[in-house]
Amino acid sequence: MAFTLERPVDEVDDQAVVNWRDYAACKSCSPELFFPAGTTGAAFDEIVAAKAVCAVCPVQTACLRFALVTNQAYGIWGGTTEADRVLMKRLSRRPAALSA
Ligand code: SF4
Repeated sequence: MAFTLERPVDEVDDQAVVNWRDYAACKSCSPELFFPAGTTGAAFDEIVAAKAVCAVCPVQTACLRFALVTNQAYGIWGGTTEADRVLMKRLSRRPAALSA
């Protein structure tokens, strides 16, 4: 199975993709939840909570794509932490190692 950063956007129409922020599940959430200070203790709980919001977000793919293209270094975007995104980029550069 080949690894890819692209996932189908099937929950939203083209207009929603263009204006993906308007459809964000986190629109009414505290911004601090998506920019935790650290990765342990209370910050870990915030990351888990933020990822739970992302899991039901209709524009998760567009959000993640934006974060990857613009190299967002901080925060939860598209259900990923900065460490998740670094790993995704590393893995995407090694397609042969992931196909089997
Ligand atoms: S995927 Fe997560 S961070 Fe991105 S818009 Fe949706 S809820 Fe917000």
